[in-house]
Amino acid sequence: MSKFFYKAFFICGIFLFYQCGEATEEASNSDIPETSVDEEVDVEGVKLVVLGTVQDAGSPQIGCQKKCCAHLFEQPDLNRMVVSLGVIDENSKETYLFDATPDMPAQMELLNRKSGLDLSKTPDAIFLTHAHIGHYTGLMYLGKEAMNADKVPVYAMPKMTSFLESNGPWSQLVQSENIVLKELRASDSFGFGQDISVTPILVPHRDEFSETVGFVISGPSKTALFIPDIDKWDKWNQDIVGWVKRVDYAFLDATFYDAEEINNRDISEIPHPFVVESMETFKELNLQERNKIHLIHFNHTNPLLGGSNVQVEKVLDYGFKIAETGMVISL
Ligand SMILES: [Zn+2]
Ligand SMILES: [Zn+2]
Ligand SMILES: [Zn+2]
Repeated sequence: MSKFFYKAFFICGIFLFYQCGEATEEASNSDIPETSVDEEVDVEGVKLVVLGTVQDAGSPQIGCQKKCCAHLFEQPDLNRMVVSLGVIDENSKETYLFDATPDMPAQMELLNRKSGLDLSKTPDAIFLTHAHIGHYTGLMYLGKEAMNADKVPVYAMPKMTSFLESNGPWSQLVQSENIVLKELRASDSFGFGQDISVTPILVPHRDEFSETVGFVISGPSKTALFIPDIDKWDKWNQDIVGWVKRVDYAFLDATFYDAEEINNRDISEIPHPFVVESMETFKELNLQERNKIHLIHFNHTNPLLGGSNVQVEKVLDYGFKIAETGMVISL
């Protein structure tokens, strides 16, 4: 944290003044993709936009005829997109995308609309967390069958990079220079635009084809942690509670709420921190610290996707926030 304060003191006073004085969240209904077209961003700064909150397979999930999804095949909820974050640097007019999901066409458009930039603009960098379907397959839209993009920089860890280079159809994107791969190294920061830095941190997950990372995303005055997928918090060699204390926002894996959701299977065997387990993990934090935690990456069965219900109430009472598509925060 001290590093970021240190940085902040060296930024011109006016900018600091703007950033500190600003309420940092605009959320929910007024921010749904269809109605946010004419929303103006008032301060030239760095913004983080939530572009999707659902687990890899989306909602409705293929074949699901349960009450979580059945109605959504006929009446889709446009806010239910796969987990992704975007960053807008209003000064350099650059945009950055965190994970390339199967919903990338709508998400890239939403990011551009929020930024007021050309709606067909491709991101100035795409960062990938890992090789599971919700997190990288959106790259396909950059290829010849879709927009035939020109040299979009894609930042990924070494195994993820070689997975993309050596397996079709991704290798074709590399050969045709639709994308240009840039290798990340764990815990090494990359600097971008207006005092933005992005740092990958390794996390434990099912790593069949690639490593898995979360990202620390810092702007001129605030820092966000993004961990959409992780095995249990206690399987990590780092202290998540300490991380939450050090950052201003934490977008954390909330794939499943509790065991009931997965037919009462033993939750200790499911490789995600259940929301009820996270409540235990973060109990030592005060309300202000808990408010930093924005739950994300909801499975189609997760009651937290469902608007108002007991679980939503419980989570909000506890002090967590539920990430919503279209939410914007200042960094
Ligand atoms: Zn995932
Ligand atoms: Zn379902
Ligand atoms: Zn995954």
